[in-house]
Amino acid sequence: MKNPKKKSTSRKKNAPAPAAALATGDSNRLEFHRNAVGLLPTATDRTPGQAILVSDEHGEEASRYCSCKVARRRTCAHLLELAGMARQFAAKNTGKNNGTALDAAFRGSVWFQLAKLLADDCDDTPDAVRCELRKNEGDTAPVLGIMSSNGKELLVYASQGADQQRLLERCGQVPEPAGGCSRASLLRQLGLLTLTESERQLLERGFRSYGLAFQ
Ligand SMILES: [Zn+2]
Repeated sequence: MKNPKKKSTSRKKNAPAPAAALATGDSNRLEFHRNAVGLLPTATDRTPGQAILVSDEHGEEASRYCSCKVARRRTCAHLLELAGMARQFAAKNTGKNNGTALDAAFRGSVWFQLAKLLADDCDDTPDAVRCELRKNEGDTAPVLGIMSSNGKELLVYASQGADQQRLLERCGQVPEPAGGCSRASLLRQLGLLTLTESERQLLERGFRSYGLAFQ
């Protein structure tokens, strides 16, 4: 006779559930920066938190954080979900399983080219730029214009799908959701957690390196 209870307790306590296919909606909640990867909570999460995993220089997990209340006492569901997703995403793209692999995948992507183009021409932080949705005659949906803090046009982003919304969120141009778990705040946290020692010292003295301004 089957005993489902026994079967479910045979998994190690707090071990991640077996990985299911990574849906596009779920991968849209992932963000990564250098050697760290973060996960935004779902819109229906009743105890939302921003989970972050940081890898060391060998790609091994070095530390983990989550802003939810549960994480103060034990490993929360957000961290377990993130660990599973990061492993799955990176394995599909590079065969590795950590934030370093995600960063390598990013550097080969169109998002990296876009970021480099913006950084070469402007040293504003993402939340200092201005975004404007415009609808010209003949457009079926608005295109996104991005301007520097001194009013110079940096980019017209013509795509009108979910990626346009994601770019707006990255620039902190959408209202902060309840609980403060926005894409912009997650990216700020990832940036702070992956500073090198010399960048930290520069920042404390009020300077940013080119590398930091770019990222
Ligand atoms: Zn959590």
